Formats: sequence, C-alpha cells, structure tokens
Amino acid sequence: MSKHDDKPFAADAYFLGPKSENGSWVRGEFQAILDHWFDWRRSLFADDPEAISPARRVSTEFLREREVLGQELRNLLVMLQSEVPKFTPRYIGHMVSELSLPALFGHFSLLLHNPNITSREVAKVGARMESEAIAMLATMVGFDPKLAQGHFTGGGTMANFEAVWRARYRLDHALSLALVLAERDGDALDPFMAAHMGWREFERLRDERKVGEAQLRAASMVLGNPFSVAKRISLCTDRDYLGPVLITPGNKHFSWQKAANLFGLGEDSFWNTPLDKEGRVDLGALAARIEEARDLGRPVLCLTSVAGTTEAGEIDPVDKIADMLDALKEQNIHIWHHVDAAYGGFFCTLLGGGTEKVLLPAQRKALRAISRAQSVTIDPHKLGYVPYSCGAFITRDEHAYRASSFQAPYIDRADADDKWRCTLEGSRSGAGAAATWLTGKTLGFDHDKFGKIIAAGIQARKDFTVALQNANTLACPLSPADTNILCFSLARPGEKLSLSNQRTLDVYSKFQAHPDFSVSKTVLSAQSYGALIEHHVASYGGIRDADDLALLRLVFMNPFWANPDTRDQLTPQFMKRLADFTVN
Ligand SMILES: *Cc1c(COP(=O)(O)O)cnc(C)c1O
Repeated sequence: MSKHDDKPFAADAYFLGPKSENGSWVRGEFQAILDHWFDWRRSLFADDPEAISPARRVSTEFLREREVLGQELRNLLVMLQSEVPKFTPRYIGHMVSELSLPALFGHFSLLLHNPNITSREVAKVGARMESEAIAMLATMVGFDPKLAQGHFTGGGTMANFEAVWRARYRLDHALSLALVLAERDGDALDPFMAAHMGWREFERLRDERKVGEAQLRAASMVLGNPFSVAKRISLCTDRDYLGPVLITPGNKHFSWQKAANLFGLGEDSFWNTPLDKEGRVDLGALAARIEEARDLGRPVLCLTSVAGTTEAGEIDPVDKIADMLDALKEQNIHIWHHVDAAYGGFFCTLLGGGTEKVLLPAQRKALRAISRAQSVTIDPHKLGYVPYSCGAFITRDEHAYRASSFQAPYIDRADADDKWRCTLEGSRSGAGAAATWLTGKTLGFDHDKFGKIIAAGIQARKDFTVALQNANTLACPLSPADTNILCFSLARPGEKLSLSNQRTLDVYSKFQAHPDFSVSKTVLSAQSYGALIEHHVASYGGIRDADDLALLRLVFMNPFWANPDTRDQLTPQFMKRLADFTVN
C-alpha cells in the first residue's frame, strides 16, 4: 500500500512498470499485434495453398527442429536474465531507461512487417510513418513541419554525420562557383567569404553569371580532385588554401571527432571552443575562433552547439550563438549552425507548459532557439524512451536537406520518395519511425503529457541533489546542472584533487561490483573543461594538483522516480551504499 495520496500520473499508463504492473493488459496488446500479423497472412491471397501442411507439422523431423528452436530460445532467455536491468529506477547509469509502451508497441508491430524505409517501393506504410514522425519531431523543436525535412538514422552519430555531409555539400557548391568566377572572369577570391555565401546568393550568382553545371563540377572538391582544386584556389588567392574547419564546443560528443576523421578533415581542422566556468560554450572564445578562421582564409564547414551534453546534460546558449550568426549574415556570412540535441531535443516538450519552470530561463531560451539552426540531431532512443537504434536528422527546410548523391544532377532536390539518394545509410528499418510515431500520437511531444515525464526527471535530479547534501556524504555536486543529470565528486574540504579523483573512481568501481544501483562515471578533461574544474575544486576549497576531474554521473530519466514510494525507499538505500563505499 502506498502511504502517499495516489496522484495520477500520465506515465502510469505508458510504461510496463518496474514490477510489470501493467503486465496483463500489455500482454493483451502484444497478443493483438500477433493476431493481426497472423490474420494478415491468412486473409491476403486467401486462395493460395498452405506451404506447411498439417501432416508435415507433425513429422518427426519437424517436431525435432521445433524442439531445438524452443530449447535455444529458452537458452537465450536465460542469458538475458543477466542483461543490465535498465527498466528499474535503480538504473541511473546512462542515457537509457524503461522503454515506453507506445514505443515498444510501434517498434514491435513494424518489426513483424519489416519495411525498409529507404524507398517507398519496399515500404509504403513505413515510409509514410517516417514523414509523419519527422514532422512531429520537427514541430517539437520549433521548425515549421511543412518546410522541415529529415529522416531516421541509426543514432545520433549518424545524424551528426548527415549534418556535416550537407554542410560540405553547400560549401562545395559556393566555393566551386567562386573558383569558376575567379578563373574565368578574374573575380577576386576570398575562400572564407565565398564559402559562406549561402544558397540564395549561390543561385543568384550562378544564374546571373551563367555558370553551367559542367563548369561547377570541374571546380568541385567533392566531385573532382580535392588536391588539385585546392591548388587552383591557392593560385587565385596567392596563399595556401588549407581547407575548411569544423567548430565544435569542448563539451561535444566524440561523434564529432569521428565526423572530422571520416570526412577527411584532419585533426588540424577540428577546432574546439573552450567552455566557460559553467561548462557551456564560451561565446567570446567562439567569436574569436570564427575570426581566426576568417584570418586564415579557412571556411567554417559547420558550427555545432549542444543542447543536452552527454557528460552533464548542459545546454549551450543556442540563442546567443544564433544571434552571433545572424549578425554575421548581415555581412553576407552564412555559417551552417547544427544543434546536437541528440540527448536534449526532448527537453523542448517542456516549453509552453507550467512545468517549463523546472528549467532556468536561459536554458528555455536556448531550447526555443534550436529552430533557428540549419539542422538538428535528435535521439529518440535516449530521452524519447524508444528502443535502439533510433536517431533522427532534421533540417529547417528543403535547401538545408540537399545532399550530394550519385546519378542525380549536380543540384538535386531531396526526393521524398527516394530517400536512399539523400541518406548516408542505405537500408533502414521502419521500427524506430513507428515507435516515435505511436509515441507522438499518444504521449505527444509537448508539455501536456510527455513534458511532465521529462519535468519529473529534472525534479528528481534536484530532489536527489538535496538528499545527497543532507545525507552527510562527501558528495560535491557539479554546478550548475541544467537538466536531469547529476554529476558529483567525493571530496573533503581543502583536499587535493588527485585524492578526490581517486576516491570517486574507487567508489565507482564498487558500484560496478554491486549491481543494486547502476551509476556511470565521467572524467572531464582540463583541455575543454579547465574553467569548470577550477570552479568546482574551489567550491570545496580544494587544491588543483591534477588536470582532469573524475565524477560519478547519475541520469534521472526513469519515469518512476516521480513516484514518492520509489523515491522514499531508494534514496536512503543509495545514500547508505555511497557511505559504505566511501571508506576513506
Ligand atoms: C548520444 C549522443 C550522440 C551520439 O548518439 P548515438 O545515438 O550514440 O550515436 C551525439 N551527441 C550527443 C550530444 C549525444 O548525447
């Protein structure tokens, strides 16, 4: 019996529950999905013969094989018994938790039909579901769903690659045009200015100066030889053309480094922007990096900001970055802005509701400004409570969605019927799209229901932080914490950072060895987080004798942390564990 008043919570009907509380009716829904699958086969082409006759279904061979399959399936289920239990509120380790029922039902239904949403030829329903689900996510982040374009990906990493691919495509067009005009007509060439002319100016110049496709192709680094084109640019400018740079904040996900590597940019072109003492991108430093690129004549291929960092869930000042880029547009400099909202995109569901106040005003402003970017990454398989693998890449309009493709003319349009032309991946499952679609149709991606679940996670992080401080542990929470992730180190006042790092990592390994709570750890590097680490160590009067900062990391996204019974029982248990593990 609950000793608390039973306040209804939308999440109750949307998750199985840590004790399979909703098991009986959920079984019925899964049964309905299977029945539909069976009936579909029976009723379609009803006159076709059975392929596996009743007699064959009782043959010795048949029964033996069925036995083998059944046995191995049971073995698999036994193995799964020791899988990491991510459904329980005791799992506060990584960005994953209990899956929602609409997501599971949607995923499972599509799985049985197995559409390949790469093309409408192999996925009629799945492909339509993808467009509708993308429109829902686009609306969530503030894009106009009629203009926005996008598709589902294997995850956030792929979605980030999609952004770089498109940004490079736009940059390559602009630079090719400028090179043609420099070589053919003797125009002055400034690679930085030329690369950022934007699509509108590109189209105007191309038409006005009558530059044909063949000429553009011959001057393209992507379609031609990048080294010889670079040499031609260098010749026209009297200085070595060193290629574009990718500007990411120091709090970026490591997928950006992979992107730089994959697109052949070289480490020298992968530019980090230092963070401020709160762990968000330093705006002054960012402006300086853009200036530096300009001085070197190196275009900015793509500028990334992060909404919901992987380490601490922090939200960069996306609005202020957008302001900075708008000011540059006044000087005809259009820099591609991509918001990596793989984790934090779903915080937008808070906006417009009473619960949005769990976020500070600056973070709300930042989330509202995601819609000002060219493109965005969202991971439904993180805060969307959708099964793996499900990421999404969305652009604000059709222009930004253009990507290079084979066969198609140099300037090709995003063809909604043939996604394979404009996705990095080939074959794609429709399961993630359907999981997202059914979630959007039921929980919705706004403040009414979904936002309340998200708000509950942030509130749980706040309550837990207070409990941690009241429990007389050595915990020093990283501050500020913008969302539902709590990071803390274990330090005594005045102590050396090296000692506290050791203790924190030691306690982490003890948590690892005792599975009654799953937590994660993160080590912030001085290179990116120097100012924040300084600030953190100063908060307990510590001595900075080490570069990096080790932290325990707790992610509060399990919806049942909002349940007072869960919270009242688990919080003291966690505190006791933490105290037991902290031996010195
Ligand atoms: C998780 C994450 C990614 C990568 O997403 P995957 O789905 O793991 O490929 C990228 N950026 C951020 C901010 C993330 O949190």
